[in-house]
Amino acid sequence: MARKFFVGGNWKMNGNKESIDKIIEFLTAGPLDPNCEVVVGCPAIYMDYVRSKLPAAIGVAAQNCYKAEKGAFTGETSAAMIKDVGCEWAILGHSERRNVFGESDQLIGEKVAFALQSGLKVIPCIGELLEEREAGKTTEVCFRQLKAIADNVSDWTRVVIAYEPVWAIGTGKTATPEQAQEVHSQLRTWLAENVNAQVAESTRILYGGSVTAANCRELAACPDIDGSLVGGASLKPEFVQIINATQ
Ligand code: PEP
Repeated sequence: MARKFFVGGNWKMNGNKESIDKIIEFLTAGPLDPNCEVVVGCPAIYMDYVRSKLPAAIGVAAQNCYKAEKGAFTGETSAAMIKDVGCEWAILGHSERRNVFGESDQLIGEKVAFALQSGLKVIPCIGELLEEREAGKTTEVCFRQLKAIADNVSDWTRVVIAYEPVWAIGTGKTATPEQAQEVHSQLRTWLAENVNAQVAESTRILYGGSVTAANCRELAACPDIDGSLVGGASLKPEFVQIINATQ
């Protein structure tokens, strides 16, 4: 089964209306490969604005989503709020949520479960720290994080996994295509053995970590890499080239 190529942008805590208008301008001008699914993760406060201005074919994701419907959770955003402003996606468990805000595997699993039950599509992120890679623990860490997610998935058709080695995020140190392909293939095997063969075959696994226009094509050419999750370069016009990496 062919997996549709997918490119996500993660704007993180960057931008204002003026700079966002410039991103909307280059994304609208494209041209974007119609065979690529594109989703941008924007700060919660701008989601309504971005959704109202971006072409409908481009999805908009929250960068986080709490695991309760509503209530006394100051500072959080609910799935209902995300849907209320016309957005469908949530990035969950990004390494900055894990490592700056201390989110655990268990919390991320609960967020995945709740977002899916609420009708959102999710991009859960996993990936090892540099010291974990150097200690030979890459697969152990990634499998543990993936299990915490997989145990909470009620509908795999609404899940796109992002493998983002933490040492490659925002550092300019991209994993080599060989390093990324090796982990992607191991993740797909894990899905086959622990979920089922159909989910392994159909679930998209994105690579994230310093993806740019210069390295996107060789990453996209790897058999188990189904697209990318892009931070810094998603704020720049080169994001269009990354979207078009398989053309
Ligand atoms: C990210 O934020 O998910 C990311 C991969 O960032 P960057 O592309 O800047 O490394």
